[in-house]
Amino acid sequence: MAKIGINIATGSLQQSEMIVGIDLGTTNSLVAIIHPESKKPIALKEHDSSSLVPSVVHFDALENAIVGELAKTFLETDPANTIFSAKRLMGKSYNDIKQNASFFTYKVIDNNDDSLVKVQVGQQFYSPIDLSSFILKELKSRAEHILKTPVTKAVITVPAYFNDAQRQATRDAGKLAGLDVLRIVNEPTAAALAYGLGLEKDADKTIAVYDLGGGTFDISILKITNGIFEVLSTNGDTYLGGDDFDRAIVKYWMNEIGMADTDLQASKELSQGLRLRAEEAKKHLSIHDVFSVDFNGDKLSITKNTFEELIQPFIEKTLKCCVNALQDAGLKATDIETVVMVGGSTRVPAVKNAVSSLFNQPVHDEVNPDEVVALGAAVQADILAGNNKEFLLLDITPLSLGIETMGGLMDVLIPRNSKIPTKVGRQYTTQKDGQSGMRIAVYQGERDLVKDNRKLAEFNLSGIPGMPAGLPKVEVSFLINADGILMVTAKELRSGIEQSIEVKPQYGLTDAEVERMLLESITHAKDDIAIRALVEARTEGEQILDVTEKFLVKNGSLVTKEEMMATAQAMQALQLALTMDNKNLIQTKIEELNEITRPFAERAMDAAVGEALKGKNI
Ligand code: ADP
Ligand code: MG
Repeated sequence: MAKIGINIATGSLQQSEMIVGIDLGTTNSLVAIIHPESKKPIALKEHDSSSLVPSVVHFDALENAIVGELAKTFLETDPANTIFSAKRLMGKSYNDIKQNASFFTYKVIDNNDDSLVKVQVGQQFYSPIDLSSFILKELKSRAEHILKTPVTKAVITVPAYFNDAQRQATRDAGKLAGLDVLRIVNEPTAAALAYGLGLEKDADKTIAVYDLGGGTFDISILKITNGIFEVLSTNGDTYLGGDDFDRAIVKYWMNEIGMADTDLQASKELSQGLRLRAEEAKKHLSIHDVFSVDFNGDKLSITKNTFEELIQPFIEKTLKCCVNALQDAGLKATDIETVVMVGGSTRVPAVKNAVSSLFNQPVHDEVNPDEVVALGAAVQADILAGNNKEFLLLDITPLSLGIETMGGLMDVLIPRNSKIPTKVGRQYTTQKDGQSGMRIAVYQGERDLVKDNRKLAEFNLSGIPGMPAGLPKVEVSFLINADGILMVTAKELRSGIEQSIEVKPQYGLTDAEVERMLLESITHAKDDIAIRALVEARTEGEQILDVTEKFLVKNGSLVTKEEMMATAQAMQALQLALTMDNKNLIQTKIEELNEITRPFAERAMDAAVGEALKGKNI
């Protein structure tokens, strides 16, 4: 049931607070909601203006930030103070972006190390999180203005390939803008949701989401099973998009009217003017056959045919990425059941046609391609708000998560493909008497030995009170929240001491790496089983040696000389076996030692019982 509130100022009834969906794009950003009456997602816009807010931040002389259409007008005239494409810097170090440094016309601080980048404007330094927060603040205040109600909760989308640092950065930007970010959703997942894909029960579908924006191209192959979206593969080009189309037109015109690069460099206004006319031409040609305009006395024109020839190489490039993505997913083009078009640049008919013929089917373009991601985010927001109870969107963990146990073995707590959010706990104990600390090392991967997996984190549970080995009960629990962030907690249940750590399971792992790790686990499965058996035998052998030694120290009086000799010999033999890679030998030696010690273990037991009886009155 939806909560109803009363607005004290107006006396009107108010629905419980709305959760908005936000597409925080490289080129454009926007906000969408589910319309309270029609229940359909709509992009928010003021009157007849566009719903799109250019993701550009301009700082004036007083270092006030302005965002959007107005900021965009400073791109060419005041490049040092006008930040575009901040999204490309999210969660990145200077080393990460070094090869593309020339792309940024503002000052990205070159500290040449692995700490997160900063942008310098005047005397101020801004992190990409700060910059994104300016955009989000603008979106928030627009939404509040349009909806006439405070907006504090949002779902924000990110590219499917964003790693955890980048997702966390996006979340932080939201927080900084005064938004409680309830969920970070993959852009292709959101686009699919906007088309209602994954909302039908029991539907099992493989889809492709082709997203050509202003400066980036992404292709994602998703598998949807019972409302669970699994990213099978992603591919793309982070420096390919509609901006390239604009530049191609500018070049064409310069050639036509005999203008040199130096002319453009001499006048920022001129190059800005040309760029804007080119974008206008491109959009016009999406629905008309010719474009012409008067520009400083020159007549600039271009036909649709010419434009299509100019952009053919870019289209070809995107198709290659699609082929690679299919290959990575182990699929053929004909395995794809639905193709969804996303991003303003897919409005170009030549792009649509090329994608349609590659996948050999009509593509979905009914929803505005530059709004579809935000609309899907709104659908997700609505589900989170509990207005759409039938659907609970779930993601899954791509690789197993576990901890290291004796002998370097991987003990899996959360198997791969588990639905998240999820929580699992398991009990462990100490190996040594009086052991006061326990090292918890968290790993991700499918192999039996942790050394073959990826280490995510390690911490120490210290301060366990002195107890005999095996007595402490240490519960290790793994909790993965809806954003895929893992919280590992270790708690000694007898004393209550507790330690926890937050880890980022997917940090830096690309889909290709995930796939490689999975593949390796399959090819090594046989070796792994053998190694695991060996390690387990060794661990058992070590424990038995330890216990026997302790027993002899404590109960030496109960053992005859011959028994002592035989035991020592068997122990030595086992010790030697432990140094060899022979599981069967170790097991035989364990058995032999057990044979010898069994009778006097029983004797000791009887003695202990006798002692106990002596002291008590029954
Ligand atoms: P992003 O996801 O990168 O933020 P968008 O999806 O908003 O970007 O796409 C922006 C790009 O789409 C720009 O290059 C813009 O020129 C282009 N675009 C918008 N409308 C059209 C159109 N009608 N025809 C061709 N390109 C268009
Ligand atoms: Mg986009």
